[in-house]
Amino acid sequence: MGKVISIANQKGGVGKTTTAVNLSACLAYLDYKVLLVDIDPQGNATSGVGVDKGEMEQCIYNVLVDGVEARQVRTSTQVSNLDAIPATIQLAGAEIELVPTISREVHLKKSIDQIKHEYDYVIIDCPPSLGLLTLNSLTASDTVLIPVQCEYYALEGLSQLLNTVRLVQKHLNRQLMIEGVLLTMLDARTNLGIQVIEEVKKYFQDKVYRSIIPRNVRLSEAPSHGRPAILYDAKSRGAEVYLELAKEVIVNGERVR
Ligand code: ADP
Ligand code: MG
Repeated sequence: MGKVISIANQKGGVGKTTTAVNLSACLAYLDYKVLLVDIDPQGNATSGVGVDKGEMEQCIYNVLVDGVEARQVRTSTQVSNLDAIPATIQLAGAEIELVPTISREVHLKKSIDQIKHEYDYVIIDCPPSLGLLTLNSLTASDTVLIPVQCEYYALEGLSQLLNTVRLVQKHLNRQLMIEGVLLTMLDARTNLGIQVIEEVKKYFQDKVYRSIIPRNVRLSEAPSHGRPAILYDAKSRGAEVYLELAKEVIVNGERVR
């Protein structure tokens, strides 16, 4: 049965989408069947794996709001072993349209439960908020992976996120666990990065991945080519470290089981 992992942090620009796209692609590269679910109205994960948003007649919006089956909206991607459920700007209305609906936090879980057995991993790219879309994602997930950018105030806002995780555990999804904390965009030339690493490790201890994502220009270029780094430039440091991360995620999962 597929393991469902939310990539979440309500801060924007911390590397959620980059992580969702590259972790998904690296797991697929390692021969696992992966489904990438985009629930950010910006749809950057969708275009990051080469899916043309303009060509999609339906997207995750129709799954969440109209009850269309996930299977009908899913599409293949540039990466073998990797399917995606795309998001388009249409999703921007969902946050409000879901409010008056029954069991508004469990729509995504219901639809993902129907197809997760076809995959080894389902990776969900969350929007930069703790609203209904992120709540749907946390409710549908086994675990949450939290990217943290190596910069000043790295830990700021994380207590809010952890609080939301606890509320979801209490009311919506007892099983939800922290998958891990991923340090991103490390600039090895500064001392600040090292300080942040120590601070985050002190707080999250063994939940912090050994793989630390460096600032790497290939990771920021790859999306404009519609390709994850492992396809765009497999020898880049960015691609290498995301591959290491994928292996850590696999091994950690085996240890828990
Ligand atoms: P989020 O989804 O949390 O908003 P993104 O993954 O979209 O964050 O990243 C924000 C910006 O930073 C994007 O332009 C992305 O290409 C860039 N970026 C993300 N990770 C890295 C990295 N490790 N090195 C260089 N640029 C990065
Ligand atoms: Mg994003």
